[in-house]
Amino acid sequence: MLHTFEIGGEYLALDVNSGALHSFYKLAYDICKLLTPPLTKETPEILYNLEYDKNEVKLAYSELYSLYEQKLLFSPDFIVDLPKNSVIPIKALCLHVAHDCNMRCGYCFADAGEYCGKREIMAPEVGMKAIDFLIEHSAKIENLEVDFFGGEPLMAMDTVKAVTEYGKKRAAEAGKHINFTLTTNGALLDDETIEYLDREMFNLVLSVDGRKSVNDFMRRFPEGGSTYDKIMPQFKKLAEMRQQNGKSYYVRGTFTAKNLDFSSDVFHLADCGFEEISVEPVALENNHPLAIKEEMLPRIYKEYEKLAIELAKRKSSGDKINFFHFNVDLEAGPCVYKRVKGCGAGCEYLAVTPPGALFPCHQFAGMDNYKLGNIYDGFNDESAQLRKKFKSTNIYTKPECQNCFAKFFCGGGCVAASVKYEGGDMSKCYHIGCELERKRLECALYLQAKLAE
Ligand code: SF4
Ligand code: SF4
Ligand code: SF4
Repeated sequence: MLHTFEIGGEYLALDVNSGALHSFYKLAYDICKLLTPPLTKETPEILYNLEYDKNEVKLAYSELYSLYEQKLLFSPDFIVDLPKNSVIPIKALCLHVAHDCNMRCGYCFADAGEYCGKREIMAPEVGMKAIDFLIEHSAKIENLEVDFFGGEPLMAMDTVKAVTEYGKKRAAEAGKHINFTLTTNGALLDDETIEYLDREMFNLVLSVDGRKSVNDFMRRFPEGGSTYDKIMPQFKKLAEMRQQNGKSYYVRGTFTAKNLDFSSDVFHLADCGFEEISVEPVALENNHPLAIKEEMLPRIYKEYEKLAIELAKRKSSGDKINFFHFNVDLEAGPCVYKRVKGCGAGCEYLAVTPPGALFPCHQFAGMDNYKLGNIYDGFNDESAQLRKKFKSTNIYTKPECQNCFAKFFCGGGCVAASVKYEGGDMSKCYHIGCELERKRLECALYLQAKLAE
């Protein structure tokens, strides 16, 4: 499969199966769009209908044919053999240490921390039991991950500290290692917490939506006042420390129907000194006033292109800005397996609620029909079947993914979004998410091509 597209005056083609990205001159690009495999050594007659000199057409075709022979153009399809083991090891847990929050964001999927239940903090003993559960179910996986999540996890610092200390000890005893990550809205960050998080966390996710007006419109305190003014000085301090000592972090924003000019938010964050930035589209029911709707897609495509073109300029002149959603690895290699099997929700990745219930990921927490058991009793027959269903939901089993050029980069999309917004059917694709995924991939490939020049 070959996907051709133009951005910012570049004529690009992605050979989907090999992952080869070609930056063509216009003639070769026009020829490519007319070709269907298998190719012959002889120049196809139809190409002479193009309004180009015949000798130039012949020469361009021979160059393309050479790529075809090297299996870099219209390369053959392949199937990645996914392991069929009946035991599904667990690699990562999302620990919902706080089903409570000190903000009231307009788009919150977590019901401002309540997850359609009650406000609750995870007891340290529950978090420690979750660590035992992870280690016991991790089979031979040595490097494990624990994400402290909420609501707002800094409201449960006693649990975060106890679980981190216990997790390091238990992992070492088991000959394993745990990388801890924490996602925070920043409202409770003080110097002592900053120092602790910088020391103990492998990665930090700092939630802020960009420009002050955009951030404060969406991310609000129940009592009023600017969340931006409260969090930004602390986020800057933390990011500076991480950048200086080479540790991971990123600022993570959400764009909605109210800020379709979100590239301004990305560059605002860059201008504030943040180097690692993610600004992602909101996923909400179609009738929600903040939801991204079909008719907004052309505007968003233009915005992504604008972002990619500006990023290419800034990066070429030495800026360190890294926009997460434009990160693609064209050297497929071992990564292709991960791309095929998807995000791991319900299989190698599970979420744990404050009382210790297991769900396929944070987006499913509180959906009783997706409860997978608990950290004390593990899985029952029914939940084991459900985990198998998650495991077998991938680009080879989802009909819409078969002919999608993004399939080896996307991994089959977000199962939670399919369940929530596509009638509960995890084999379907969340339509808006797919459209955006494909556009982001084009922009990411454009950026790669420009930076390789
Ligand atoms: S900070 Fe997070 S959990 Fe809290 S209201 Fe905002 S989106 Fe929801
Ligand atoms: S973008 Fe959508 S259709 Fe394409 S591979 Fe991803 S989930 Fe499947
Ligand atoms: S199902 Fe969606 S929200 Fe859950 S882990 Fe996968 S990509 Fe993330």
